[in-house]
Amino acid sequence: MAKSTPKAKATPSKKAVESEKKEEQSSVSVNVSIAQPETDESEISIEKKLVALYSLQQIDSQIDKIRIIRGELPLEVEDLEDEIVGLETRIDNHIQDIEALKASVKTKEEQIKDSQLQIRRYEEQQMNVRNNREYDSLTKEIEFQNLEIALAEKRIKEFSQQLAIKNEEIEAAQAVLEDRKNDLEIKKSELADIVNETEKEESVLQTKSEEYQKFIEERLLTAYKRIRKGARNGLAVVNVERDACGGCFSAIPPQRQLDIRMHKKIIVCEYCGRILIDNELASSIEH
Ligand SMILES: [Zn+2]
Repeated sequence: MAKSTPKAKATPSKKAVESEKKEEQSSVSVNVSIAQPETDESEISIEKKLVALYSLQQIDSQIDKIRIIRGELPLEVEDLEDEIVGLETRIDNHIQDIEALKASVKTKEEQIKDSQLQIRRYEEQQMNVRNNREYDSLTKEIEFQNLEIALAEKRIKEFSQQLAIKNEEIEAAQAVLEDRKNDLEIKKSELADIVNETEKEESVLQTKSEEYQKFIEERLLTAYKRIRKGARNGLAVVNVERDACGGCFSAIPPQRQLDIRMHKKIIVCEYCGRILIDNELASSIEH
């Protein structure tokens, strides 16, 4: 890896700048031009390294963001698919319940028919009885069958109410199911679009990231990658925010802040190891 010299051009090509402009809306624009004048050689060199590192961080963070977005959408699709399966199962269960209820109604209706048949038979028999005792006995049988009919009718009424509720539940579940299916269609096409779009964006950024990496000496780049891997938010280079490290928010003593501003050497956070850059330099890079 070539050692970074004051002459090393840390600016992206014109083409890269133009492609950046096009995606101003969606990605952090990075500008690596360095403040003039060229005074102390080592000072500029460190400053250049810091600028390159910070710029690289901006690009890599953008790539991270894209990957997170792309990672979340498939989960949303999966959740919807699970919900749809759940709803379909619920509807199926309701349908089975309805079938069982209908069968129960039928059984009761048949019981009623049987009872009515019995009653007619008993009434016929009553015409030909030989004594009152036989007549009364048949009357009791008829009463019993009438009670059976009444009970069966009551049960039918209950089953019918349950059927009505089940039908309402099915209707409600089906409405939700329709909604979710629509949502799923939308999410799926969104996912396809985003994958398509972000893959292009990511590859542009990836190329840019590789470009910037060329301006950073290997030892530093290795450190950068190592810190990034270890950091949950993927930040290896952070600026000083309210006298604290922008990565872990630990306070930075004034003398250390001064050192950071001097750009004499690369200074890392004592707590999290992230590379620190002063706000002034950072804001000269960001837009
Ligand atoms: Zn820190």
